[in-house]
Amino acid sequence: MTKVRTRFPPSPTGYLHIGSARTALFNYLFARQHGGEFVLRIEDTDRERSTDEAVQVIMDSMEWMGLDYDEGPFFQTQRFDRYREVVNQLLEEGKAYKCYCTPEELTKMRELAMEKKEKPRYNGYWRDRTDTPPAGVEPVIRFKNPTTGAVVIDDAVKGPIRVENSELDDLVIMRSDGTPTYNLCVVVDDMDMDITHVIRGDDHVNNTPRQINIFNALGAKLPVFAHLPMILGEDGKRMSKRHGAVSVMQYAEDGYLRDALMNHLVRLGWSHGDQEVFSMDEMMKLFGLDHVNNSGAVFDVKKLDWLNQQYMQSASTETLANGLTTHLKKAGIDFQSGPAVATVAELLRDRAKTFSEMAEGAKPFYQAPTEYDEKAAKKQFSQEAGERLQTVHDNLAALEDFSPEAIDATLQSTVAELEVGFGKIGLPLRVAVTGNTASPALDQTLSFMGKEAVLARLVAAVQYCRSL
Ligand code: GLU
Repeated sequence: MTKVRTRFPPSPTGYLHIGSARTALFNYLFARQHGGEFVLRIEDTDRERSTDEAVQVIMDSMEWMGLDYDEGPFFQTQRFDRYREVVNQLLEEGKAYKCYCTPEELTKMRELAMEKKEKPRYNGYWRDRTDTPPAGVEPVIRFKNPTTGAVVIDDAVKGPIRVENSELDDLVIMRSDGTPTYNLCVVVDDMDMDITHVIRGDDHVNNTPRQINIFNALGAKLPVFAHLPMILGEDGKRMSKRHGAVSVMQYAEDGYLRDALMNHLVRLGWSHGDQEVFSMDEMMKLFGLDHVNNSGAVFDVKKLDWLNQQYMQSASTETLANGLTTHLKKAGIDFQSGPAVATVAELLRDRAKTFSEMAEGAKPFYQAPTEYDEKAAKKQFSQEAGERLQTVHDNLAALEDFSPEAIDATLQSTVAELEVGFGKIGLPLRVAVTGNTASPALDQTLSFMGKEAVLARLVAAVQYCRSL
């Protein structure tokens, strides 16, 4: 049996789009599941739009996603000699020809076709000509597409798609400056790299019949084609920046766990019963093209947030601590002199949807509030609250052991001493130490912040209250 070989061939023209990431994941899973190989190919023939930075972004994204490839990255720009060789072969075999039409002639051809209400297409003018070509015109090279019959794509997702050859024209495979075009390069690469399965977005489905004809002209074995449904935003339109981040690395930046994003991506177009949560191992076991559906897949950010929270809750302390460290650094928070990041991460584990949220929640453990949340301060701070906080301050100051248990006991006895409900102390105290009323358990929060920090923040809050 031939070994399964899939490929991921992004064009390095910007960030790695979330749709491309899904394509990469499906190809990766399919290869791994079949004990096959996964190839990374950089399609950088569009030299004006391709940049080194974008290549780097692709590499970084692949690494962050953990989609390790067995071969590559291959760069198409390093394979120009090979493409030329194939074009020459097609020319020699009479399967391609030089076309000397000028841009003006092509425009006229298009206009004429439109007047006749026909598809604007190349009419094969130079296909069978034997007369002398015009002087001074560098020809393009066109592929001799069959004129009769039809191409049938036996699509593993969409089922058979039949396209009449009369619908296709003789496409340019090499421009007049000698650079090969996308459809030629892809076929030569997929052939040379022994790709058995081409799994890609269905925005390419129109290219496939043309590519199949080129495969056939080269006598190459056809790969299996599988075209994936587009990723849509919640309004049913094609996923774009309007709907949320579209760059893979933005999700890393925003503090999502890679496993959560991969889980979210695998469900875009593929399902396994009602199951929503899949580990990478499970995905590898269960994934199959037979359960990829044909209709657009909606990228629901709320679902991703939910998944991320699931993964945060079950992540190891180390994963949490690493994630939080990265995002504290990003937020410019100095965490050297506060409680251990792992301790804070554990405390916040169930409260944050992403690491950036967690970093935000961790801030008070490392920094005194620079200002109080307006609403919280208005509600919780007053002259009387200031006096209560002064008592809390004095009682906590007397503690030698600043453990959660000791703090809890002190707060309870302060409540009894002042004869107020716990909220009368607990809420202003939260605002005093964190700037807001939302924080994890108070006893642990205070204990991890440390006595010195807590007392200093209480002094500041008392002062604030007295000034009201
Ligand atoms: N470079 C193409 C793209 O990024 C690849 C298309 C293909 O998979 O053949 O869309």
